Amino acid sequence: MTEPSDAAARRAVKPVVCYPNETLPAPDLELYAQARKGAVKLGEVLVPPRDAACFRVKAGQFFRISSVEGPQVGDLNLWNAEDLSERFYSGKSRALHGTHLTVGERMWSSFPYLRPMATIVKDTLDWYGIDAYGGSVHDVIGTRCDPYTGNLLSGTQYHHCCHSNLTRALADEMGLSLHEAEAHVHDVLNVFMCTGFTRDTGQYFMKASPVRPGDHLEFFAEIDLLGALSACPGGDCSTEHSSDTARCHPLLVEMFEPEPGALNGWASPPVNGYDRSHGRG
Ligand SMILES: [Zn+2]
Repeated sequence: MTEPSDAAARRAVKPVVCYPNETLPAPDLELYAQARKGAVKLGEVLVPPRDAACFRVKAGQFFRISSVEGPQVGDLNLWNAEDLSERFYSGKSRALHGTHLTVGERMWSSFPYLRPMATIVKDTLDWYGIDAYGGSVHDVIGTRCDPYTGNLLSGTQYHHCCHSNLTRALADEMGLSLHEAEAHVHDVLNVFMCTGFTRDTGQYFMKASPVRPGDHLEFFAEIDLLGALSACPGGDCSTEHSSDTARCHPLLVEMFEPEPGALNGWASPPVNGYDRSHGRG
């Protein structure tokens, strides 16, 4: 490999942030916190290990994902409850907020909607930060574990990857066939998962999640949502996924509704304002 004579100078160029996010509409976290104080629990869903379950929350309600029994990673999908074509856009959320999400950051929806679907309002793992390996929690850099990649790499037929778990849960919830439901499953927010990229080879890595029972990640629903959460077959994702080897635990999803009037001044965000003419007409 021959390097150009000015290779060092080219590498030394300072990076610029692709999407400075100071102009992003900021969530009113104070208002959300006030509303959460008087909120009452509406219900809960226990997601079994190596399986997934759906839940619904209305705009203005909260949902909390908690670790129970033992360290466990969850793969989260979100859709507009009235229109499955509007779904969580992991890549754009990453571009706007960074590789891992925490309090005040949003799960943004796909084009042409591109609006906040949910805002993170509480994260008991926010103390973790970025560790010495470059790892952090709640990533939007992974995809979701799936049987196709397992088949590609190892020739396996494993049926309890998050992709399949989410597919079955959505099919049952919506009365769709598995193939119809599968097309709506998308890249996830990896709740509680500890991940990063190796510095030497740039490869996606995972390590044992720092989550412990009682830890939780809580969201404010900005629009009416259908959610699906898979308790990953990787368990705490310390060694492997896409098999029945890892020790797995359930995950708890709880929904909360604020008192009437608690969100005065707040409105569910409209869809994106781009006119969609794409330079024609
Ligand atoms: Zn998984």
